[in-house]
Amino acid sequence: MEEIFIVTEDQRAILETVHRFVEEEVLPRSAELDAMDDPADCYSEDIVAKAHEVGLRTMTLSEEYGGLGTDSLTTSMVIEELAVGDLGVSVIFAQTLKIAQIMQKALNEEQRARVLPGFAEDPQGMLGIGITEPDNASNYFLPHPTPFRTTAEKTDGGWIANGMKHFISNGNRASHYLVFIQTEKGKPLAEGSTCFLVERDREGFSIGTVHDKMGERLANNAELVFQDCFLPDENVVGDVGDGFNVLAKFFPQSNAYAGASILGVAVACYNKSLEWAQMRVQGGKPLIEHDKIRAQLAEMKMLLDASRSYIHRACYLADNQHLGWDKTLGVLPKTMASQAAWKIATWCLEIHGGHGYMKETGVPKLVRDAAAFLHSDGVNHTLFLKAANFMYKD
Ligand SMILES: Cc1cc2nc3c(=O)[nH]c(=O)nc-3n(C[C@H](O)[C@H](O)[C@H](O)COP(=O)(O)OP(=O)(O)OC[C@H]3O[C@@H](n4cnc5c(N)ncnc54)[C@H](O)[C@@H]3O)c2cc1C
Repeated sequence: MEEIFIVTEDQRAILETVHRFVEEEVLPRSAELDAMDDPADCYSEDIVAKAHEVGLRTMTLSEEYGGLGTDSLTTSMVIEELAVGDLGVSVIFAQTLKIAQIMQKALNEEQRARVLPGFAEDPQGMLGIGITEPDNASNYFLPHPTPFRTTAEKTDGGWIANGMKHFISNGNRASHYLVFIQTEKGKPLAEGSTCFLVERDREGFSIGTVHDKMGERLANNAELVFQDCFLPDENVVGDVGDGFNVLAKFFPQSNAYAGASILGVAVACYNKSLEWAQMRVQGGKPLIEHDKIRAQLAEMKMLLDASRSYIHRACYLADNQHLGWDKTLGVLPKTMASQAAWKIATWCLEIHGGHGYMKETGVPKLVRDAAAFLHSDGVNHTLFLKAANFMYKD
């Protein structure tokens, strides 16, 4: 656990609870769940129920809804700690904690009263966000002047939605979603789409394929399918045609949370590398006494510390924008952390030698997990371009 930013006793107590939760509930089960054939079986309702019992599932909700109202900095520490245990577990809660934060700000009073108390009480309550489509992915990050394929036509009292989103984290597990749908024909997605609140049991809304992923398997990702699905006017979040403003206004910490998830995997790789380097003897001494290995561990630590500092800065400034928020902080921390994690995971493999290739060491799972955020939450190359546009173009 990183000590320097833990400034209050509440933060310390939260992080100690999460650390215990990871040790007792996540680590003993993650390898077995990761190995399930059916991707849906990799998800553990039991882990979610246990997280609910300790208040983790709802910690970003305000006290009014029974939560702790944790700020973004503390939440990022929790997300990192969870990912030291398992990336998928971290991601299911990162999504839920983040969307709960967003919903408290972006939903109107009636919507909050309709959704949040039920979500707070449901021990399996999870949240999801649906933007990506087979044809539109990097297109919305940059954004390209094309419309979403998922569209909604105006009708009496609401909208009729048709189309499909894919790759959605918690797609088949969430009780509520924020979904971005094209409501204005002939306009690009960034100008003609609307954010809708979608309930899982809504008629005309169903779950398609649950994706069979290479890593991050304890989280489920799925298709969201809309077939003549009626969405009432009361489910419009913000203004019609203004969906991307909802994104821009209420998501500043999103990228840093993604960075915190992948950073946790890098920490697990570092811990494993250190343990192995102390134990494994070759050339007449433990690996850690070989200069190259020792220096590599120091470089790993540098990458971890620098990525964490960047994530923490982004989270703190997302909550305190008047102190110097700049838009690249909403794009680059995940990019840095995921590149660091990928490097550290391959070095972890190298330090373990041939043993690292054997499943029983746990290294192959970490390498598969470490690849997840090179693309998730935006392909890194696309995010560099987005940052460059903020810096030199917009
Ligand atoms: C594990 C996981 C979880 C996810 N969870 C969610 C979720 O919860 N909700 C959600 O909405 N989405 C989710 N996504 C989708 C994710 O945001 C997209 O996968 C991501 O944006 C990349 O889209 P793509 O895979 O279609 O790649 P593409 O957009 O097809 O990109 C392919 C390649 O082309 C490059 N490229 C694309 N456009 C340009 C351009 N204009 N200029 C230069 N290069 C370009 C990219 O950098 C990349 O290298 C998830 C994805 C993953 C893998």
